[in-house]
Amino acid sequence: MTSHFSRVAFTYDRTRYHPPEVSGRIATALTAPVEKLFRDPLFLEIGAGTGRIAVPIIARGYRYIALDDNPAMLEVLRQKVAGVARKARLVEADARELPFERDSLHAVVAVHFWHLLDNWQQALQESLRVLRPGGFLFEGWDQSDDESEDWRIQQKWKEILAGLGYTLVRGRHQARLAEVEKALIRLGLEPKAKTVADWVEMRSPRTSLEMLLERIYSFTWEVPEEVFRPSVAELSQWVAATYPDPDVEYPINWKFVVRSTRLP
Ligand code: SAM
Repeated sequence: MTSHFSRVAFTYDRTRYHPPEVSGRIATALTAPVEKLFRDPLFLEIGAGTGRIAVPIIARGYRYIALDDNPAMLEVLRQKVAGVARKARLVEADARELPFERDSLHAVVAVHFWHLLDNWQQALQESLRVLRPGGFLFEGWDQSDDESEDWRIQQKWKEILAGLGYTLVRGRHQARLAEVEKALIRLGLEPKAKTVADWVEMRSPRTSLEMLLERIYSFTWEVPEEVFRPSVAELSQWVAATYPDPDVEYPINWKFVVRSTRLP
């Protein structure tokens, strides 16, 4: 997993781009409830990556620990916060073994994260350990509608792969979120999900195709090279035949969901 993130560190922001006003809304959704209850709260983000969620919060002057186990992702983040990072700390560590004291943080943030770990239970346990009573666990994710041309191209690829005898597994992220929710409920906690922002991204078929070719998304990583190569060659032909101008952009409707869990 680590090596994949090293490879995509510089393109990651392009694939998961938030317009500035959306970043602002997410930052408000994550900070407002905490600030209401705690003075000068301390945030921790596990799997902070290139700082898509972290940077807008750091820019607002909050104390923020951005933790990631991938140095390339953290380096991109380090460059972004140069000069505004007075209250930010970048920590290279594994979220399954957090180098922090019990009850020491006011909020833990995990965005697009749990599905990347096999033993996510350990990271969840660690997050709850370091949170102080009354603290918040925030999980967040981007969700797109499945009627876009981008989705259609991804589905076509899945179909091509099936034709080559390979079953592409998708939906791991949502399945894992459901598992985490169950675990939280079992602990007597009450996770509550809410859409905090929505927006439209314009994306051309050429870009959709490139994102698959460059294996940006984690659902592409497991496809063996000998299947991947012919599948994307066939997909490229299909895109060329289906879209007379592959640079014409189509809308993708996005929303960002935050699930909040408050500790007793
Ligand atoms: N939260 C950021 C966002 O939404 O833009 C980044 C999400 S990215 C999909 C997931 C990040 O988790 C990557 O930067 C990866 O290096 C990191 N990661 C994966 N496993 C990890 C682990 N065990 N401990 C810490 N970070 C990890």
